[in-house]
Amino acid sequence: MPGETGKLIEVALPVPLFQTFTYALDPESERVPVAGSRVVVPLRTGKEIGICLRPADGQPPRKVRRVIDVPDEEPVLNERMLGLCRWMADYYVVPLGVVMRSVLPALLTGVTQPQPSRKTRRVVRIRQDLPTLTQRDKAFTRARQQRTLFELLESLGGASTIDHLLEQLAFSPSVLKGLEKRGLIEVVNEEVDRDPFAARIQKVAPSHVPTPRQRAAIDRLTSANAGEVFLLHGVTGSGKTLVYIELLRKVVQRDGRTAIVLVPEIALTPQTVDRFRAVFGDSIAVLHSALSDGERYDAWLALKRGEKRIAVGARSAVFAPVENLGAIVVDEEHETSYKQGETPRYHAREVAIVRAREEGAVVVLGSATPSLESWVNAEAGRYGLLSLPERVGGGKLPAVEIVDLRARGEQLPPGALQPASPTAVLRERLDTAITQTLSRGEQTILLLNRRGYSAFVQCIDCGNVVVCPNCSITLTHHQAPERLLCHYCGHHEPLDPKCRRCGGRSMRQRGLGTQQVERILCDRFPNARIARMDVDTTSGKWAHAEILDRVESGEVDILLGTQMIAKGLDFPNVTLVGVVDADVGINLPDFRASERCFQLLSQVAGRAGRGEKGGVVLIQTRVPMHHAVVCAVTHDYERFVRAEVTGRENPPYPPLIRLLNIVFSATREKLTADAAIAAGEWIRGLIAAQKLSDVTVVGPAPCPIERIKTRWRWHVLIKSSHAGDIGRLGRYFAERFKAPAGVRVTLDRDPVALL
Ligand code: ADP
Ligand code: ZN
Repeated sequence: MPGETGKLIEVALPVPLFQTFTYALDPESERVPVAGSRVVVPLRTGKEIGICLRPADGQPPRKVRRVIDVPDEEPVLNERMLGLCRWMADYYVVPLGVVMRSVLPALLTGVTQPQPSRKTRRVVRIRQDLPTLTQRDKAFTRARQQRTLFELLESLGGASTIDHLLEQLAFSPSVLKGLEKRGLIEVVNEEVDRDPFAARIQKVAPSHVPTPRQRAAIDRLTSANAGEVFLLHGVTGSGKTLVYIELLRKVVQRDGRTAIVLVPEIALTPQTVDRFRAVFGDSIAVLHSALSDGERYDAWLALKRGEKRIAVGARSAVFAPVENLGAIVVDEEHETSYKQGETPRYHAREVAIVRAREEGAVVVLGSATPSLESWVNAEAGRYGLLSLPERVGGGKLPAVEIVDLRARGEQLPPGALQPASPTAVLRERLDTAITQTLSRGEQTILLLNRRGYSAFVQCIDCGNVVVCPNCSITLTHHQAPERLLCHYCGHHEPLDPKCRRCGGRSMRQRGLGTQQVERILCDRFPNARIARMDVDTTSGKWAHAEILDRVESGEVDILLGTQMIAKGLDFPNVTLVGVVDADVGINLPDFRASERCFQLLSQVAGRAGRGEKGGVVLIQTRVPMHHAVVCAVTHDYERFVRAEVTGRENPPYPPLIRLLNIVFSATREKLTADAAIAAGEWIRGLIAAQKLSDVTVVGPAPCPIERIKTRWRWHVLIKSSHAGDIGRLGRYFAERFKAPAGVRVTLDRDPVALL
């Protein structure tokens, strides 16, 4: 390389290696990077964007290469954010450059190229309704596919994007053309709003006077010390949002600092976001998934420059580049969506606490059903505990009743021929309650946490169940379009009336999904306006808010959905909540299965009776004595915690100990098993040599879901009551253990599920 070598710098690159890299600066260049600046550097035969860490010391490597470009005048990460990245890299055992890439907006890391934002999208709409069955049968005599598509459009509210129909739902363009030619549908160009949230009607902030309980919580928070963490345990409808807002008023408006508000998912919580916007208006940046990379970058810049002072968003908003941070709110802190499912597998709640401590901000973790981890921390005095044990305005928590599905009456189909009979799905008690609620002009929310039509399809002659060819998971039966679908990898295939194992023709649907319940509801309550909300009806990025807005304005009588409908909704006219089958997921082989079930039941129950009319909750279950069900019925969080923590003593599970789950996967089963077994021995040897008496190893064993997306999966579970020991062991393993070629190893620290 000609010319003189300039100063050396140490650079973090987003590559899967636990090391940093040394590069030389161009002595001619006028721009000198500081810690946190982006640098473009050569890597192998290409280029990569890295982050400058510091001047390099020690001996330069023999062939040091030169920095190609220093694109920005200012660093993209300040000292405190660099510190946070270092902590994440260390704690979650991830290379520093990989952490940095996930902390910055995509546009800055070169992962995606800036794209011109699409201003229009192609939308398919129904032009002519076919209200009667006779009309329909006549129109589609020889066009089954057209009928399926037409009815699907109806179930999507009469319109859908063309991409969704052709790509996700795999309809052929000729079916679409056919319907269009007959004038039943039309394809139109629709303007895409650049920021749908900005376009939402800005509501006037109701100025409530805080209740004494709210006042006490607000006072504690506004006089807290820098870095203090609080758990705000407030029952559903206790007015937690007002507490957050008053804290932010002080931090942002009076102290002139900044704040971050984390919500589980923006699209599911438009009401909460609206309330913040009503108070803080233009000083808020809402970071939601419908933003393009360009818009996301714009919001990032506005926050960095201080033009916006509050960031509201899901998990990754914890990295908002605000300066002078005064508070972080983590709403619904128990939600698993705060944990990232891919590398770096961080938990936004934990990152928030570390960041706040570093920057002197206050943290509020809010929930009606706190995670056991946070509860134990509050009990031990590590977090301040703030309680709102009552609903605001003297409202009562709804009465919850059990409907025992084992009781006499028609059973849910163990092998019913066609769709389950309506009286088995909606027991008399629930059916009557829905009828009465409809007649009073009030609204009903129905929860069934399983999408699709039926859970799986089974041959009653030989017992064979149709499973995914790529995953060890049964395929779910869907309608509109009718097919069998894998919820893990998206594989789909037509429904085969013949059993592939025995050739018999006795394939039966088993278990209920939301599509089937919707059908039953439509038949049973033909005049009710029913909306279904699950992954299949909300593929459009803005579909959630549209459905929820319709519920709010009274255009929907019955809202049916999966866990999506259980979060944060505040509709005073909802007086009945029904859980169609509480047992979905309760028996999953995961140590958190009961906790999830309790949280879901409590949260959905909390949607009822938020207005003056009160409300009732009916839970259909086959396990009425299960502690998750019993405690949800009595609204007894603390009793649930006691029972659950006792159940996690032996064998020990969090929050009593810490976990590191090491998962091995490969396309060949034996290769996977061998790698896991070798790793298990390696780790046991290390523990013995280092005398880590407090660390135990479980496994290696196949994961509960043995195969996903054609890869076999094994795991080794590491337990310890010392977080430090787990961290050291994880790093030592990640840096030294050599897995055979073709085997992917992932480390998941503090996993939220072990499936
Ligand atoms: P949570 O998040 O605890 O379930 P919310 O924050 O959604 O409860 O509040 C429930 C309802 O009570 C909302 O409609 C809110 O506007 C109202 N509310 C909150 N605080 C007060 C108050 N001090 N006085 C009157 N209404 C209130
Ligand atoms: Zn699959």
